[in-house]
Amino acid sequence: MPEGNIIDFEDAKTRRGDHLVRGTAADGFIRAVAVTARGVVETAHENHGTSAVASAALGRLMMGALMMASIFKSEDELLTLQVKGDGPLGGLTVTANNKGQVKGFANHPHVWVAPRAEGKLDVGSAVGKGTLSVVRDLPGMEPYTSQTELVSGEIGDDLAAYFLLSDQIPTSVGVGVLVNGDTSIRQAGGFIIQLMPGYDDELVDRLEAALAGVSSVTDLLEQGLDPAGILRTLLADFDFQELEASPVEFYCGCDHERASRAVLALGREEIEDMIAKNETAEAHCHFCGKRHYLTPDELRELLEQD
Ligand SMILES: [Zn+2]
Repeated sequence: MPEGNIIDFEDAKTRRGDHLVRGTAADGFIRAVAVTARGVVETAHENHGTSAVASAALGRLMMGALMMASIFKSEDELLTLQVKGDGPLGGLTVTANNKGQVKGFANHPHVWVAPRAEGKLDVGSAVGKGTLSVVRDLPGMEPYTSQTELVSGEIGDDLAAYFLLSDQIPTSVGVGVLVNGDTSIRQAGGFIIQLMPGYDDELVDRLEAALAGVSSVTDLLEQGLDPAGILRTLLADFDFQELEASPVEFYCGCDHERASRAVLALGREEIEDMIAKNETAEAHCHFCGKRHYLTPDELRELLEQD
C-alpha cells in the first residue's frame, strides 16, 4: 500500500474542524501561521449575541490572538489583546494561550454600523481610533505590556503594526470573518506571515508582490482552502514547509469557584446585605456570557471560609 493511503485519524479530525497550521518558507526566512475558526467565532456570536460587525471585529482579534500565541510558543503564557477605540464598539478584549484556546468579548456587542459601499462590514468604523495593547503574562513574572496606536481599526493592519513597531518584525496579517444574512458565521480565518532576521531585500520585494496578488482571506476560505491550503497558496513560490497542525477552540474556564471569588470581592458588607435580604448573587462572566449563581446559603458559607 502506498504510504499516502495511511490516514492518521486524529490528524484528519483536527483538519476538519477549526485549526491552526504553523510552518516556514524561504529556507526559514519566512515564518507563517494560518487558522480557520468558524466555530470559535460562532460560539462567541452565540455567547454574546454579537451583531455582524461585532462578530467580525471580535473574530478577527480572537484569530489574531490564537496565531500570536502560537508564534510566542511558551507553554503557560497567557496572551491578552485589548483594543480600545472611540467607535461604537467601545473596545474588545481577547485572551488566548498556546493550547489553542481563546475567549473574548466586545464592550458593546450589539452595535450596528452601516456597511461599506462594496457591502463589506465596516470594522474600522465600529472600532474607531485608539490603541492596541498586547499583554504577555507568564506565571511568576510581571505581565509585559506594550501598546501601539491603531492604524485603521481593521485589526489585521493593527496587529501588523504592532509586530513592526514593538518587535521590529516585518509582518503581514490577514484576518477575515464572513457573516451570513441571519448573523450566523459563514467563514472565519486568517494568516500571519513574517520575515525572520537575516532576510534580504529581494525576498521582501518578492513576498510583497506575492501578497499583493491576494484578494482577501475570506475569498480564499470561500474557495474551500484550509489553513495549510491558504499558506501553500500565499507562499507558492517560497517552498512552504508545514511544521505543525493543532485544533483551536473557544474556551473560557470560568466556574463556580472563580465566580465565588468575584462575589467575595464585593466585600463583606454587601454580601451580608444580600444574605439579610435572602438574595441570590449573580456573577456574570464577561468572556463567555455565562451567569453563575450563589444562593444565600452559599454566600453564608463563603463568608465563613473567608
Ligand atoms: Zn466564562
